[in-house]
Amino acid sequence: MSGAGARVRSMGTLWHPFSDMGAVEQTGELILTRGEGVHVYDRDDRRYLDATAGLWFTNVGHGRGELADAAAEQMRRLAAYSTFGDYAPDTTVALADRLEGIAPVAGSKIFFTSGGSDSIDTAAKMARRYWVEQGRPDKTVLLSRSKAYHGMHYAGTALAGIPGNREGYGELVPDTAQVEWDSAESLRATIESVGADRVAAFFCEPIIGAGGVYLPPEGYLADVRKICTEHDILFVADEVITGYGRFGGSWFASSALGLEPDMVATAKGLTSGYAPMGAVLVAPRVWEPFFRPDAGVWFRHGYTYSGHAAAAAVALANLDLIEREGLLDGAARVAESLHRELAPLAEHDRVVEVRSGLGAVAAIQLADPPTAMRFAVDIRRHGIATRACGAGAIQISPAFVMSDEQVQELAAALRAGLDEMEAA
Ligand code: PMP
Repeated sequence: MSGAGARVRSMGTLWHPFSDMGAVEQTGELILTRGEGVHVYDRDDRRYLDATAGLWFTNVGHGRGELADAAAEQMRRLAAYSTFGDYAPDTTVALADRLEGIAPVAGSKIFFTSGGSDSIDTAAKMARRYWVEQGRPDKTVLLSRSKAYHGMHYAGTALAGIPGNREGYGELVPDTAQVEWDSAESLRATIESVGADRVAAFFCEPIIGAGGVYLPPEGYLADVRKICTEHDILFVADEVITGYGRFGGSWFASSALGLEPDMVATAKGLTSGYAPMGAVLVAPRVWEPFFRPDAGVWFRHGYTYSGHAAAAAVALANLDLIEREGLLDGAARVAESLHRELAPLAEHDRVVEVRSGLGAVAAIQLADPPTAMRFAVDIRRHGIATRACGAGAIQISPAFVMSDEQVQELAAALRAGLDEMEAA
């Protein structure tokens, strides 16, 4: 085999998530072998600028030896232990303390998970149990937004605002309802029609991610937070993407905007993806009924790898690295750079709009949405690794270490790809 053919492995064994495997069987897989900074390399040692930081997670860039060292050291000492009951590795406790220190709400407790979908499932169950413990078991309804992505466990699937993601799985978790992603009035109206005494929680991504990178309208997040407070509904910020710096300038979007969420669902950037781990940051109001001495309240929920010690060691090293290299400001710089360099692409005939300007994320909405997947594959010829998201948009969510020059390089390659598409 030669050239691009060398990358094609027909009838592979790997079942890729979120993929048309019939198509992958024909076009082949892109098999990666290593990464360094903002680049990844395939089996033929072709280099790609990683425009998405994997799936919005390699926030500190690839190939960070100190994160590998942290994992190796911890694995030699104590790789993992249960955190059920009263057990805990020292490193897991240290990470919980560290997260309390940066959480949007002081005094938060930290419930560890293995990823974002776990964090959402945990928050959904915690919200309903919270109201049971408050003597209000009828408050069960979970609200989410159109375009929302909250992971793919059953709770997250039921909360999904991307229509296709809900289909074909039978009856989903009952007692959920959806509001318009960009309208606080829609939230208010839905609460009033369902009845505030029935609603447990509202789930909200500060910036909609997988749904296509939609930025919140001016004042929207403060408004929906206020509506939840007024109606005694828990506000759950899904910061799986925006958390640990991607919002820019602060650890969490919720802190930057003063939202004081009742729970924050997190994952991805906690370890920059070097180990699978998530965490729910739970504000005092919500944890209080579960921590009463002599009340005998058990939250019968948790995962084998909740608080996995090696993952926790990686997370601590990752947070140290972000601090030491000033990467919260780095993300803010990348956000500005993306906004500046990508905005002109909005004028291109093949582009409807470019969404950017908040956080180190952007989307290029193509004029012909079904071509987005093809575009994401073709742009590899220009040395760019990216993917389609939302309804025909190209996702941009680089590591916080991407230089301004590399953002320019990315913009130029995207333009070249769009020109080619137009010529074809
Ligand atoms: N919530 C949001 C906002 C996400 O972007 C994601 C993942 N893209 C999830 C939840 C689910 O996380 P995971 O894939 O780690 O389960």
